[in-house]
Amino acid sequence: MLIGISSSADAKVTGQSIFGEEVNQLLLLTLHHPADAIEQAQDKLKSAQTDQQKSQLHFVLARAYSELLLPFKAREEAQKAQSLINDSTGNEFKSYISLSIAEASAISGLADDIEASVKSELAKARKQNNLNIQAYALRVAGLVQLTLNSPDKALSRFQEGYALTQKYPIRLKPADFAYWIAMVYENQGEPQLAIPYFTEAQKYYQQQSLSIGKVRTEIGLGKALIATGQTNEGLLVLRDAAELALEVQDLQGVANSYRHIAEQLILRNEAEQAEPFLQDALIIFNDGRNPFMQISVLLALAEVHLQKDAYATSKDYLKRALALAEGDSFLAQRIDINRKMAQVLADQADFSAAYDLMVNNATAQGKLFKERNSKRLLRLKTEFEVEQQQIQNALLTEQNLRQRAEIRTRQETQKYGFMLIFLLIVITLLMLWLYIKGKRHRQHLEALANEDVLTTLLTRRKALDLVDQQLKLAQRHGETISLALLDLDHFKRVNDKFGHQTGDNVLRSFGILAANTFRSTDILGRYGGEEFLFAFPHTSVEQVEEMLQKFAETVKTIPENIHCPEMQTSVSIGLIEARDKLSTSELIALADQALYQAKEAGRDRIVRYQSLSEEPRS
Ligand code: GH3
Ligand code: MG
Ligand code: MG
Repeated sequence: MLIGISSSADAKVTGQSIFGEEVNQLLLLTLHHPADAIEQAQDKLKSAQTDQQKSQLHFVLARAYSELLLPFKAREEAQKAQSLINDSTGNEFKSYISLSIAEASAISGLADDIEASVKSELAKARKQNNLNIQAYALRVAGLVQLTLNSPDKALSRFQEGYALTQKYPIRLKPADFAYWIAMVYENQGEPQLAIPYFTEAQKYYQQQSLSIGKVRTEIGLGKALIATGQTNEGLLVLRDAAELALEVQDLQGVANSYRHIAEQLILRNEAEQAEPFLQDALIIFNDGRNPFMQISVLLALAEVHLQKDAYATSKDYLKRALALAEGDSFLAQRIDINRKMAQVLADQADFSAAYDLMVNNATAQGKLFKERNSKRLLRLKTEFEVEQQQIQNALLTEQNLRQRAEIRTRQETQKYGFMLIFLLIVITLLMLWLYIKGKRHRQHLEALANEDVLTTLLTRRKALDLVDQQLKLAQRHGETISLALLDLDHFKRVNDKFGHQTGDNVLRSFGILAANTFRSTDILGRYGGEEFLFAFPHTSVEQVEEMLQKFAETVKTIPENIHCPEMQTSVSIGLIEARDKLSTSELIALADQALYQAKEAGRDRIVRYQSLSEEPRS
């Protein structure tokens, strides 16, 4: 298994190397001379300080053993590396370790429970776009599928890896995948398809002086050549591989090439020559605890001895093989062994035992097919279920999103609803406020129109209106109402002596005094200049005269009120009681006559019109 980890040129392309210079050198050495790499790594382990260093060195050992096709040892080292990782270990290194455990497990025939972890590493690498890990994961995934008897799936993984490494200059090379593509074709009985891929890989490993890879590739190529009828060429390539393997101490390579050379010699009925190759191979495979290889060599040795009619020895080898072929992974091997055993028995003329064995074998074979089928079905079912689950999840996610969108829309609608209501309330309040303000403004304007600004008494027009109203009411109900015209005395003089401003102050003070003196039902108006029209409903003229008398007295206090003591103020008043259905203007004219009389009589007095009518005018 080649994992071309990080020459420095690769590191430039693929980002910073996760290993130190020393470990990188060792990893490179695992490709060229794994046995040396093992020796050096073990040496360095003795002086390694940190868990990080130790973990990386165990990883180097795992890689080297993997190169030497010693999967159990490789797995052991990778697990040691894993036990030493901690929180500070980078994710990329963790992925490498996890994948190398999976790789070693697959080659040892223990692929069942690692499929998921490889899948997740592959998915992770794809997501993070880590091409190095992605390629490595693709190769391990292919190996796992091979162990799970799914060559078609294995092929598609290897082809994907092949395309990836052709496109990007990453750690693994197209040759590393070409080798495995060829292996799948070869195992599927398509050696002619395998040959060009083997040749491509062989050329690359030759160029790079990667002996281990070259040995492995040549073993495959030799086999493929033989299978396509080019027996001599094939054997030559196999011998070349064996020689090179010996040179670099690739014992598994040696053993493998020996095995295939021996198989050819057996086919040619040259069993004598085949045996030493097989014996050597068996020692090596025993050493490496590689049960698949051990069984295949033991089967070949049984055949060799069968050809020599050494039935007992042949049976011995088969029994040894059977002892190794324990467990579900070796059902196919057990069938091969039993078939060979039946053959030995038949050659010995023990036909009934041979027959029984063949019957048993047929049952076993049936079981194998069934198992393979059911395993495949189970996997298909699992895949289907996973797919269904994913669809379900996607649906749920979509539903979830839709619900959330709906809730958001509802919330938004609610929010806008509240805002609208709030806005309406604000507008209503605003309009109400404007209405009230307008009303007050109108009232204010109205008040301004009815109220004399200087004296705050009624204006002439308002006073006349009200007098008119009250007069009519009084006349309708036969009630009494009195009218008075008041005129400040010598007001011209006040103005002349104290100024117009002070005159105004007198008028203002006069207004305040009048408002304070009379009732709110009395009508108090400024008739013009310093002349005033007062009306007193429901009040007899005698009562009014009395009130006016008091008022006239207070008018004299005005100079004090306005802090002008040298001034003198007084008022002359013409008074009349309404009678004989006289109109307002007629009454005012009569009151004015009385006022004139009061002035004539020396001012500062009240003259009642009644008294006038009793005396003849002067
Ligand atoms: P009599 O006693 O005869 O009423 O004398 P009199 O000076 O008050 O009468 P007359 O009608 O000749 O003068 C009224 C004066 O009142 C003339 C005018 O200047 C003044 N007068 C009228 N309206 C106002 C006002 O609003 N403010 C001030 N300061 N003076 C005013
Ligand atoms: Mg006047
Ligand atoms: Mg006057």
